[in-house]
Amino acid sequence: MHAKIANRRKDALHKFSRKLVNRCGEIYVGNVSSLKLVKTTMAKSVLDAGWGQLKTMLDYKCAHAGIVFKEIDEAYTTQTCSSCGSLPESRPKGITGLGIREWTCSGCGVTHDRDINAARNILAAGHGRLAVEIPVL
Ligand SMILES: [Zn+2]
Repeated sequence: MHAKIANRRKDALHKFSRKLVNRCGEIYVGNVSSLKLVKTTMAKSVLDAGWGQLKTMLDYKCAHAGIVFKEIDEAYTTQTCSSCGSLPESRPKGITGLGIREWTCSGCGVTHDRDINAARNILAAGHGRLAVEIPVL
């Protein structure tokens, strides 16, 4: 039973990574450490999602297809406004910020979906063109 589930998940990850590689010219992923997350309460969903497996598949499929694949340091990518590049006062931060799915930048007034904003920042970092340097706090 367990092997069957594992195989089905692996198959789904192969299809998903293939789709991404066929569709994209470059792929950037955050350096979420599945080993670190395993120690938190998010462990089950992280393990079920097969993060590590997906990254490995993307890595070799991109290499084979001649597509850029980079792992990006995702520190502050959730908190930085992808529109103006600031770390606004209104950003989601700390433990309480984890539940915030949507927020409005107090610097420029743009409203962000948490994940899309972070993805934009990861893409910008991949391109080496963050609007401003992310400060060390
Ligand atoms: Zn802003």
